[in-house]
Amino acid sequence: MMNSQNVLADNEQLQKEAERVNVAIIGSGFSGTGLAIQLKRSGEESFVVLEREHSLGGTWRDNHYPGAACDVQSHLYSYSFKPKPEWSRVYARQPEILEYLRDCATSEGVDRHMRFDSEVLGAAWIEESNEWLISTANGSYLARVLVTASGHLSDPKYPNIPGIDDFKGAKFHSARWDHDTSLEGKRVGVIGTGASAIQIIPEVAKVAGKLTVFQRSAPYVVPRMDREYSTAEKNMFARLPHTAEKLRRDLFWAGEARFPQRRGIESFISRVEGLALDHLADQIKDPDLRAKLTPDYAIGCKRVLISNEYYPTYLRENVELETQGIERITENAVVMKDGSKHDLDALIVSTGFETSDLPISHRIHGTDGLLLADHWARGEQAYACSTVNGFPNLFIMNGPNSGLGAGSIIFVIESQIDYILGALDYLHQNGYTRMEVTQDAEMDFAAMIDRNAQGTVWLEGGCKSWYVDERNGRLSTIWPDFMSRFRDSNGVFRPEAYEVRSLAEQKV
Ligand code: NAP
Repeated sequence: MMNSQNVLADNEQLQKEAERVNVAIIGSGFSGTGLAIQLKRSGEESFVVLEREHSLGGTWRDNHYPGAACDVQSHLYSYSFKPKPEWSRVYARQPEILEYLRDCATSEGVDRHMRFDSEVLGAAWIEESNEWLISTANGSYLARVLVTASGHLSDPKYPNIPGIDDFKGAKFHSARWDHDTSLEGKRVGVIGTGASAIQIIPEVAKVAGKLTVFQRSAPYVVPRMDREYSTAEKNMFARLPHTAEKLRRDLFWAGEARFPQRRGIESFISRVEGLALDHLADQIKDPDLRAKLTPDYAIGCKRVLISNEYYPTYLRENVELETQGIERITENAVVMKDGSKHDLDALIVSTGFETSDLPISHRIHGTDGLLLADHWARGEQAYACSTVNGFPNLFIMNGPNSGLGAGSIIFVIESQIDYILGALDYLHQNGYTRMEVTQDAEMDFAAMIDRNAQGTVWLEGGCKSWYVDERNGRLSTIWPDFMSRFRDSNGVFRPEAYEVRSLAEQKV
């Protein structure tokens, strides 16, 4: 990783060249684009969206693997302030979601605020002027407020398997799919059986000569109730918007109704576990194969996956499920712990993302040069899931404890947008130029999260997942409560938790 302190060393020169804005947003996925839209609608024009890639879209730009689709229903997985009556199906596929996001950006005119190929190399708080100095691959900025909207699922995580770098065949991460590599007739291996892998595996099986799936833990999979929307339905949603709004509300409350499963309430758990295990039994009759595909932890501890195609893929003659555990990888094979070996032409690594040690935190320096990653050395936490002591005027979207185990992340994003707009409004109305959450407020909030996390299936379900930080055992990525409580707690700005002042007061 680049040393962001070095990047900012020539502070004076960077400041001289910097473009001044009120708000700088890092990332143009659903969070960054949504915030940009609402900022613009509120009348703010002085903002930029800094994007490291050549186009917008975040995870939906990067994850274009075969079979990529959302496992939250489209009418809920879209902005409430930009409804799309003509969603083609219940669960939209990646191209349609990306197109939606692009349409949102262009129709609202926020694409003009996006600065592409502008990877943020470092950001430093300047106390004297109450601003953030941001150095990017394509110029520097001075911003009153900095928002990270770079997401939890943006930097691929590669497994630390001995020999993996020696593999000479085609090799790529699921989030960096290489469409130039043909898998037709090849011997292909997929490492991982998470949300991405279970969409990839059925598609690769259709073209590969042989597919070997390397499973470390079996996921729970429930039926995918997907279908196309009819023209009549789409017309109805367009002409009678309240019908789409009602559908959205129904989907939201269905998500809320799933939370007691995650809370660890036995009757709720056994009902959904029965659904998943019946689905497996319906699709896989062979008891040995079924045993291999049966999870050994409580449902919900890891993400519950939805697919009708995943299990039947293992009935194909060209597909093999390997559960022995990987010992090492050679130039052309994966060697298992029992000494057996799978010769491969291509290896697809579907092993998730850097979630607990957010890469952007290694590039942000707060008061006295404190690095966010150092502040979080023992684990991530943030007040109201968005602000951190020692980092004035910084908001983190989709950061600590803002993921969901059941529900739509768009709801979380919209709550965080409301929070940020509320804070900006408060600063503006009162003439303040600096706000910093107190350490007590941050610690109290973290303690509240810990209390709510106790007893949840994420902590006590007997699995190892990216929801829990290995460094401290805390549930650090997931919100341990109902979605509606996320909005109550983190969607309304409350100034009591902050120390605020104006530059004039500071200089007195
Ligand atoms: P993931 O859920 O973290 O799954 C990673 C997989 O790789 C797991 O099966 C894991 O096994 C395995 N793995 C990791 N390291 C390994 C190693 N060293 N050796 C063997 N196996 C290893 O990642 P993901 O599937 O990319 O999904 C990440 C998140 O993205 C999801 O939770 C979801 O929030 C989101 N997502 C959503 C959708 C959707 O909406 N449809 C699709 C894709 C992703 P273990 O289980 O044993 O750790």
